[in-house]
Amino acid sequence: MKLIYEQSRPGRRGVRVPECSVPRAKARIPARLRRKEPAALPEVSELDVIRHYTNLSRLNFSVDTNYYPLGSCTMKYNPKVCEKVARLDGFAKLHPLLPQLRNGGMLTQGALKVLYELERMLAEVTGMAEMTLQPMAGANGELTGAMIIAAYHAARGNDKKRFLIPDSAHGTNPATAAIAGYGVTPIPSDGEGCMDLKALEKELSDDVAGVMLTAPNTLGLFEKHVQTICRLVHEVDGLMYCDGANMNAFVGRVRPGDLGFDVVHLNLHKTFATPHGGGGPGAGAVGVVEKLRPFLPISRVIKRDDGTYALDYEAPQSIGYIAPFYGNFGVLLRAYAYLRMLGAEGLREVSTHAVLNANYVRVKLREKYETPYDRMCMHECVISARRQERHGVRALDIAKALLDRGFHAPTVYFPLIVHEALMIEPTETESKETLDAFIAAMEEIAELAETEPARLHAAPVTTPVGRLDEAAAAREMILTA
Ligand SMILES: *Cc1c(COP(=O)(O)O)cnc(C)c1O
Repeated sequence: MKLIYEQSRPGRRGVRVPECSVPRAKARIPARLRRKEPAALPEVSELDVIRHYTNLSRLNFSVDTNYYPLGSCTMKYNPKVCEKVARLDGFAKLHPLLPQLRNGGMLTQGALKVLYELERMLAEVTGMAEMTLQPMAGANGELTGAMIIAAYHAARGNDKKRFLIPDSAHGTNPATAAIAGYGVTPIPSDGEGCMDLKALEKELSDDVAGVMLTAPNTLGLFEKHVQTICRLVHEVDGLMYCDGANMNAFVGRVRPGDLGFDVVHLNLHKTFATPHGGGGPGAGAVGVVEKLRPFLPISRVIKRDDGTYALDYEAPQSIGYIAPFYGNFGVLLRAYAYLRMLGAEGLREVSTHAVLNANYVRVKLREKYETPYDRMCMHECVISARRQERHGVRALDIAKALLDRGFHAPTVYFPLIVHEALMIEPTETESKETLDAFIAAMEEIAELAETEPARLHAAPVTTPVGRLDEAAAAREMILTA
């Protein structure tokens, strides 16, 4: 593809800026900082620019263009009706500093109502007493939850020092605990991929602030002992934190609050179909049980007796602001529309089909690939490239070969406890035909691994750039060539 600079022709232009109608301010920039020569900007037409950026955008994989089984990320389809709701002028053009009541307050009542009702719906879905919608991502939600747990212990005069976290956890979990001021003790997994109860009991003592558990865990497996774990942790006055990023596995069926969790974060940009990728924006709503309500971030959306909504800042024990204003409001609107569209029955169908799709893929792939924890999985399955490794083909080669076949790669080398891991999350929005095409591609790749491994080492060959040294590409980015 030609760079926009290479398309430059002297005098060609896309826009004409009108002459300034007020006297030019005397240059305020000191002379030594001013350019001597005009910047060598590309001179191109409007059409050149449109084609350039439209073509650039088409070089990416996206949920709207390709199957995207990136495990743990729940890359489900984002319904366009939710986009439409988020673009309604009354929401999109609302200024966050408009008054809540009186003098124009009616302008914000609708937005406050959306926030209030979304909190109620998510509290119902998670079985929690109260929610905050402020956190901007899952990891931000984790930090909010860990800070709430720290505030709870501080208020009780508890001397807590550690979080216990399973070795299969997402890297954000230990990072969060550390940033909240705690030490981290990893708990190994047992032969079935669940938290090792014996190891947990050995580590449990009065200095444990809590356990961060991912449900279902990152192997896509349900923690069979979750209720026992909750009881044991509560006995030492620890709190149970549920990393609910995998809620797509049981949304509408099981509620973390009913299992015994005290805090849960949801990734609205995963389970509740709001767009993500490229770093956001996201929303990591956090729910808490009644006894943690006083520590929630301010501001809180409240409903007054007269039916109006307002923001409340009266919370002396609050951990304070987590995000500017009220979080990523546009993302919250999309999640609200999604929930209203699906209802309770629709949510149950989401998890039903997410789990069915993952198990379909798992069972179909098991002939050609090793499935290290071969039992019923939840919304994603983890396979290993151990068999292919014997022919010198690694998980990374398989991931790259999938790109050539029009599929985004699954997550690779995570969870860390599976050798040559490929973590596949189909999501509920994919049809059987798409899953079958993906499975056929995976089978073809497994055969190539035995017959022509060199072809897999060369992949990808159809993408704009071939195989990269990914670490170097991220650290020493060259954006001009
Ligand atoms: C995605 C994910 C997170 C982090 O969420 P972000 O929104 O990316 O910050 C945490 N835990 C698990 C299990 C996840 O899948």
